[in-house]
Amino acid sequence: MSVSRRNFVGGVAAALGYLKVGSEVDLFAQQPRQGGAAAGARMRPAMDEYDAMAHLSSNENCWGPPESVLKAMNQSFKYAMRYGYPGGDVVGELAKLHGVKQDNILLTAGSGEVLDVVGTTFLTNGKKVLGVEPTYSSVYQHATSIKSQAIKMPLMKDYRQSIPAFVKTANDRAAEIGLVYLCNPNNPTGAVVTADEVKQLLDGIPKDMPVLIDEAYHHFVDDPKYATSIPYVIEGRPVIIARTFSKIAALAAMRIGYAVAPAELITKMRPYSMGSVNVAARFGAVAALKDTQGQAEIKKRTIALRKKTTAELEAYGYETIPSETNFFMVSIGREIQPVIQEFAQKKVAVGRPFPPMTKHMRVSIGTEDEMARFVTAFKEIFPQKTRTTAGV
Ligand code: PLP
Repeated sequence: MSVSRRNFVGGVAAALGYLKVGSEVDLFAQQPRQGGAAAGARMRPAMDEYDAMAHLSSNENCWGPPESVLKAMNQSFKYAMRYGYPGGDVVGELAKLHGVKQDNILLTAGSGEVLDVVGTTFLTNGKKVLGVEPTYSSVYQHATSIKSQAIKMPLMKDYRQSIPAFVKTANDRAAEIGLVYLCNPNNPTGAVVTADEVKQLLDGIPKDMPVLIDEAYHHFVDDPKYATSIPYVIEGRPVIIARTFSKIAALAAMRIGYAVAPAELITKMRPYSMGSVNVAARFGAVAALKDTQGQAEIKKRTIALRKKTTAELEAYGYETIPSETNFFMVSIGREIQPVIQEFAQKKVAVGRPFPPMTKHMRVSIGTEDEMARFVTAFKEIFPQKTRTTAGV
């Protein structure tokens, strides 16, 4: 009896402990550059603590890689003791997929490495990065760590990124700016920048200003007004696209991503990359590229669960921001930080604070079971509200 009681208390403590450690785990996926290279010393939760949580904090693909990808990774292990191992020609496959040459691709350990490498390459001599807030702030953190700075613009009232503001600031402060960062769709809001808006941005800013377009959530978008910006690379504009296998392909822990950019930009960037993507990640990525049907199914399930969950929250009286990704934001009307802890006590990990939107909570789409646990926890933590017809 006393053992089970201890286990119970321990379990709650573990959930709280997870909170401390878990926020580091969250940072691993979402903020890997916090603390720079020293972040390699980050703490990790014990497996049972980790497995007990509903993981809705890091925008992962909760269903994991398909059989074909697991099999390919397994096959790669026969090269585990080698350096010059075959790589499954992942760069060749990516070049084919995007209709570019191999020297337009830089393979990295996750797209987070792309963001770092681009920052290191273009934020020299005190040059700054221009972008919005909130967004995926990794580039800004890296800028700080290399003694550069960010020029951050607010989102519009509808939580979208203002392209006229980008264009005006990029021109007014051109001499200061080394890089423009556009997360599309944006994390944490889930809102897209339309293809027309991207064109407006690229046509409006100084011609030689590098633009990093982070398309980590590209595969989840349904909005027909959105399009990838890879064609601008083919046109030869100074555009770098960051892509990842961590989201739709469910390979976050394997660490593989890439940049697509004009060859001369890749040449400038390459010396700053680690050049070290492991054999299992390479083989897994090649298999993942062939899994188009499986990925279409993941997209469908994700969107269905996102719509179901947001409809439940809306019916309970809480406004959600329309999202085109595998996460969404809900307005909770109070500060998020203590709420994260309340959810952790119920073994549900939700997104970290995204200043200045600290009264919103970002929720990743998990399994059916995880989403049910989330909604139950939400209803225990927040009272039902009657929304006015104005939707306020
Ligand atoms: N870009 C965005 C917008 C993200 O949300 C993330 C992770 O959450 C990343 C990049 C980094 O992902 P990874 O390094 O796993 O490719």
